[in-house]
Amino acid sequence: MNSTSLIKPVLNGVYPVISHGKGVFLYDKDGKDYLDASSGAVTANIGHGVEEINQAMLEQAEKVSFVYRSQFTSDAAEKLADKLALLIKGKLQWSFFVNSGSEATETALKIAIQYWQEKGQPRKNRIISRWMSYHGITLGALSMSGHPLRRERFTSLLESYPSIPAPYCYRCPLQLEPGTCGLACANELEVSILRIGADNIAAFIAEPVIGAAGAAIVPPDGYFQKLKQICEKYDILFIADEVMTGMGRTGKVLASEHWGVEPDIVTLGKGMSGGYSPIAAAIVTEKVLEPIMNGSKSIMGGHTFSANPLSCAVSLAVLDYLDTNDMVEKAEKSGKILGELLSKIGEEFSFIGDVRGKGMLYGIEFVMDKKTKKPFPIQMDVTNKIIKQGMEHGLIVYPAAAGEEGITGAAVIIAPPLTIRPAELIELGHRWRKTLQVFKDTAG
Ligand code: PLP
Repeated sequence: MNSTSLIKPVLNGVYPVISHGKGVFLYDKDGKDYLDASSGAVTANIGHGVEEINQAMLEQAEKVSFVYRSQFTSDAAEKLADKLALLIKGKLQWSFFVNSGSEATETALKIAIQYWQEKGQPRKNRIISRWMSYHGITLGALSMSGHPLRRERFTSLLESYPSIPAPYCYRCPLQLEPGTCGLACANELEVSILRIGADNIAAFIAEPVIGAAGAAIVPPDGYFQKLKQICEKYDILFIADEVMTGMGRTGKVLASEHWGVEPDIVTLGKGMSGGYSPIAAAIVTEKVLEPIMNGSKSIMGGHTFSANPLSCAVSLAVLDYLDTNDMVEKAEKSGKILGELLSKIGEEFSFIGDVRGKGMLYGIEFVMDKKTKKPFPIQMDVTNKIIKQGMEHGLIVYPAAAGEEGITGAAVIIAPPLTIRPAELIELGHRWRKTLQVFKDTAG
């Protein structure tokens, strides 16, 4: 049993009990330290125990912790929306706050459908997404997720939104060669639109860098530009799911910026509050908001805790911290060092097939044979074995890849807090090497 939120197994000793965290380290109650090389679930972007954030939390708690979103707004929520608009720049200016990444993508889906309803085109209500994607665990978000393992128990409740392949050049799903493929996987969006009919499609959703379902898969240049052009050609909204990649993780405020693509809707979560308090957002352009404000005047979404003042104040403090400490630029620089370090270690082990990523978001894929890229059989449970070895050696890495036999290999994500110092990066390298060596000596 390794479900994440059951209390009893924690008490039964399945997971270590964490007593506190500082910087890139977490400490358990027996005093063991863990270098948080995955920022939890790619969330603790500014590390643990940052005083400024604790202070902001306290100050807001002394003012007010809760107001209901459709009765009041708060200074914290207003300032947070302004700060996001300032950091993101461009046309994405209107924030709708929720509590998790899943709620953010589900809200994006609903806003896209409502947008077309308010424009008098209610038939435009389907979404297109990609295989090897993860957009969240609630049913709408899971309907968009091309993640077979997380879908399989609930298939009868889900829409079949994933319909195009991912830009997974390491094992091209279309069996083509990168560089000479003419971005065929992007062209598949057009094929899919023509099959379903543009009149039936509200939006296309994609993660700029694929996270949990693929371990930091970075698309080739030109890919996102092409997708955006296709969306424009067929009048379909473009949603960028930046729950994992947003707020500096890849060395830009939004990862979409790497390819100069401006989405109609963007979703944020995780790093938006660095894990200090649950908050996420769907952010839209004026173009998307206008028909709604001229029509029903209200977005049909929201939760009791939407725009919670405490979470908004915490998120604002995290974004101020990112801004005043130039963390986005620093992430780009540290990311280069991290990438070089992981690639170097990758060359030392025959079972590391691919090291890929952008900024401070890296994926490592394991193979039985570097040349043939043959994946380990799923029954070997390589990802979890490596994660377990990491834990034993005081290193936290994050599981990734969708577990599709023959399609994706076992993989982990390494994505430490953007605040990691050079000496801590070296320590990360030591612990990673040790983890891999013990896996090599003991596996199979
Ligand atoms: N979207 C992406 C890209 C994610 O990586 C995740 C979580 O890993 C989600 C959505 C769902 O976020 P949450 O777990 O906060 O609901």
